[in-house]
Amino acid sequence: MLKGKVAIVTGSTSGIGLGIAQALAKEGANVVINGFGDAAAIEKERANLETTYGIKALYSGADVTKSADVAAMVKLAEDKLGGLDILVNNAGIQFVSRVEAFPEDKWDAILGTNLSSAFYAVKAALPGMQKRNFGRIINIASAHGLVGSPEKVAYVAAKHGIVGLTKVVALENAKQQITCNAICPGWVLTPLVQKQIDDRSKKEGISVEEASNDLLKEKQPSMRFVQPAEVAALVVYLCSDAANAITGTTVSIDGGWTAE
Ligand code: NAD
Repeated sequence: MLKGKVAIVTGSTSGIGLGIAQALAKEGANVVINGFGDAAAIEKERANLETTYGIKALYSGADVTKSADVAAMVKLAEDKLGGLDILVNNAGIQFVSRVEAFPEDKWDAILGTNLSSAFYAVKAALPGMQKRNFGRIINIASAHGLVGSPEKVAYVAAKHGIVGLTKVVALENAKQQITCNAICPGWVLTPLVQKQIDDRSKKEGISVEEASNDLLKEKQPSMRFVQPAEVAALVVYLCSDAANAITGTTVSIDGGWTAE
C-alpha cells in the first residue's frame, strides 16, 4: 500500500518505533530508522528490514533534541531516498518525580526529546512535503497528551504540547494533501514502561508481575498492554488514502484509559 513512499521514524531502535518501522516497511515504504543503541544491533535491524521486506532502509544517528541533527536526517531521506512522505515523531523518554523535586535537567531533556524534536522535524520536513503536495505527519503522543497523572509533570506537559503542535500543523496545511495527527497510546510494554514497573516493584517490595498488574489496574480497563504492532497498524491506516480527511486530531489506543 505504501510502495515507493519514504518514511522517517524517530526512536525506532526500540519499542513502539521499531514496530512502526517494521509495519511501514511491510507495506513497501523505504524507511530511515533512528535512535540510540548498540551499533551492531542497529545495523542488524536495518539490514533485516531490507532483506525481509525488500525495501531500502537507512539509519540516522540523529539526536532529536538537536535541530541540526534532525534537519540532516530529513535531508538524508530526501537526498538518498528521493523525498520524505511520512514523518513519525516517536522518540520519547520518561522521568517520574513529584513537581517540587523534579530535576530541571530532566524537565529540559523530556521537553527536548518529546516535544521540541517534533517541531524541528516538522519544520525541516514540510517544505519538501508542500512542494510535492503530499505528507503524513504522525506524532506519537500518549494518553498523557489528553489527561494527567501525578509525578509526570514534564511528560504530561510535553505530550499535551505535541497535541497542540499537531493541530496547528494540520491547520496550516489543510488545503494540501498533508495531514498531521497524534496517536495517544495507553500502556504499551516497552523498555520505557518496563523501567516504571521495575522501579515500582522495588519501591513497594512487590513482584514485577504484581507491579505490572497494579499499573494496568490503575489506568487501563482492558487489563492488557497495547501491543507495538497495534500502534503500528494505526500509523499505517493514517498513512492510507482512507485517512485523507483525518487531520488535526488525536486517536486514542488505550484500552479504555481515557474513557474513565
Ligand atoms: P522506548 O524506550 O522503547 O524507545 C524510545 C526510542 O527513542 C529508542 O529508540 C531511543 O533510542 C529513542 N530516543 C530516545 N532519546 C532520543 C534522542 N534524543 N534522539 C533520538 N532517539 C532517541 O520507548 P517506547 O515506549 O517505545 O516509546 C516510544 C514513544 O511512545 C515515546 O514518545 C513514548 O512517550 C510514547 N508512548 C509510550 C507508551 C508506552 O506505554 N510505552 C505509551 C504512550 C506513549
